[in-house]
Formats: sequence, C-alpha cells, structure tokens
Amino acid sequence: MKAIQVRAYGGPEVLSYTEVSAPSPGPGQILVALKAIGVNPVDVYLHTGTYTRKIPLPYVPGSDAAGVVEAAGAGAAFQPGERVYVNGAVGGVYAEKAVVETRRAFALPAALSFEQGAAIGVPFATAHRALFHSGRAVRGETVLIHGASGGVGVAAVQLARAAGLEVVGTAGGPDGVAFLKTLGVSRALDHRAPDYLDGLSPDLIIEMLANQNLAEDLRIAAFRGRIVIVGSRGPLTLDPRATMTKDLTVRGMSLFNMTDPERAALHADLAQGFASGALKPAVGQKFPLADAAKAHAAVMASGARGKIVLLP
Ligand code: NAP
Repeated sequence: MKAIQVRAYGGPEVLSYTEVSAPSPGPGQILVALKAIGVNPVDVYLHTGTYTRKIPLPYVPGSDAAGVVEAAGAGAAFQPGERVYVNGAVGGVYAEKAVVETRRAFALPAALSFEQGAAIGVPFATAHRALFHSGRAVRGETVLIHGASGGVGVAAVQLARAAGLEVVGTAGGPDGVAFLKTLGVSRALDHRAPDYLDGLSPDLIIEMLANQNLAEDLRIAAFRGRIVIVGSRGPLTLDPRATMTKDLTVRGMSLFNMTDPERAALHADLAQGFASGALKPAVGQKFPLADAAKAHAAVMASGARGKIVLLP
C-alpha cells in the first residue's frame, strides 16, 4: 500500500510517499481502510526529532483518521464494513490502511463525513480535556479561547457553547474574526490587533500559544481564574506575582497523559454532542496523501480555518 514514511528526522523533505507492506490486525485490533487523515501540529514536531517524544525510525506519521473497517482480529469490538474514526494507530495513519487497537477506534456517526471524522481525534479530545478535565469549566462562566480558529480552537468553541459557557474567541485578522462569528462566539477578537484583550476578565482561558500570551493571560484573568496551557512554541519571561494576587491556577495539559478510561468516557461524551448536532467538526484545506509535506507547511502557517486533511 502507499504511505508516507519518515526515514530520517528533519524538515518536510523527510516525508517520503512510498510503498510499504500492508499491516494485518492481531487480537483486539482492526484493519481500517482509511478515507481521510487529519493533520495535527504534533505530526510536524515529531518528524523534527527534537520534540519531547521521539518515534524510532522508520515510521509512518499521524494519529487521526477515519475510514471503514476492512478486517477484525479476534475479540475486536468492530466488524468489517463499520465506519470508524481513530485516534492513534499501531503504526501511523498517513497511509491507505492502518491497524488500530479497539480502544483507539470509535463509531463514526452517520451524520459525519470521513473528512469530519478525521478532524475529531486530537482536536476534540484536546479541547474537551482542556475545558472540562483541566479547566473545570462551569456553565455560565466566561471562557477565552486564545486561538479559536484552528483545529483545537473550533472544537473548544463548540464544546464550550454546548456546555453553556460564554465564549470569547481570538483569531488572526479580519477573515479570522469573520470565521469565528460563523461559529457563534459571543465575542470574536483579532489577536494581531493591539490591546485586543483589554476589558476582558475571563474565568477560564484555553491557551494555544502560551509563550506569546501567558503574561497577558495572567493580567486579564478573573479573580481565581484558571489558565490551561494547550500549546506553546518556546520560552517566555513573566512575573509570577500575578498568579498570587488573584489566586490564579495555571495548568499544563497533554493529551498523551490521558488514561484509557478517561479516553473512553470523553469519546462517549463527544458522541452525544455529534448526535445532538452541537458538535460539527470543521474541515479546512484538503491535500492528496502524496502532498503531506505541503499539508505540514499549511498546518504550521497562520490562517487554518478548520482541520487540514489528507486524502489517501
Ligand atoms: P492549528 O489548527 O494550527 O491552529 C493554531 C491556532 O493558533 C489558530 O487558531 C491560530 O489562529 C492560533 N494563533 C496564531 N497566533 C496566535 C496568537 N498570537 N495567540 C493565540 N492564538 C494564536 O493548531 P491546533 O491543532 O488547533 O493546535 C493548537 C496548538 O495546541 C498547537 O501549538 C498544538 O501543537 C497544540 N496542541 C496541544 C495538544 C496537547 O495535548 N497539549 C494537543 C493538540 C494540539 P490564526 O491562524 O487565526 O492566527
């Protein structure tokens, strides 16, 4: 089968579109014929070889995808022909097929396309965990989603609105602000504009770029506010005193730390949101699988309006 393979750590040039042998499922596993693959920033960090986690070479990248079960190993919870979305595969998912543990596969709701299914795994689980597990969001509170236009941000907006929070979102430029308004946020702000946070006092901040924003988040957070760091791309200097004067909580969150029972409960909750229509994964740019390097350049650039997907 065709796949993207990483044979050396480095930039986008290490993503080779090549022939690899098709995997077969063992006990408790399924083989999924993939129809759409989600591209996440972490896929890019991993092939640099300098991220906090390192995958041994050679490897097929990617964790998020959707497709149809082609074969099921003994004891697997899905049957051939079922539509599934997956978050994590035994190898990667930048391929025509992938073997997936049952605990990492979930029924794809009939109302969702395969492309939407590829947009669920990392973005929706991250947004859910940041809001409710780490952020302890409570109905009626105000949440600032600092970086609401990307994969995680769009999911966070939908989840927060469905949970009865007042949602303030940020995006880059007027088109980003216009995009956020289509998501139904109470206020849409341009994170490229000067003083765009003035006047806010959010109870909870979901932060996608902490190295740039954390000092300002501490300044504007409400008394006893919580800040959940989801994304950060470097160090920063700040005055910790701001956390003391308002009894603030700053929590880091990594999806890699989620346990199996937490994952199962989280995806069961997402299923209810998909069924009610409150949650609708937004698909942005689409690339053929062979153009994974172009998709990686796009996911690291500003201006993603929904999830970037690869089509095998
Ligand atoms: P994405 O789709 O590429 O979106 C990036 C978001 O960051 C966009 O909304 C972008 O807005 C926004 N942004 C750009 N400049 C910003 C600024 N100055 N202040 C606030 N936001 C800004 O990426 P994603 O998949 O949503 O992931 C977002 C971040 O979370 C990434 O750094 C990713 O690595 C990280 N992440 C962490 C976990 C975890 O487990 N902790 C899981 C998933 C993702 P515009 O493009 O409109 O400017």
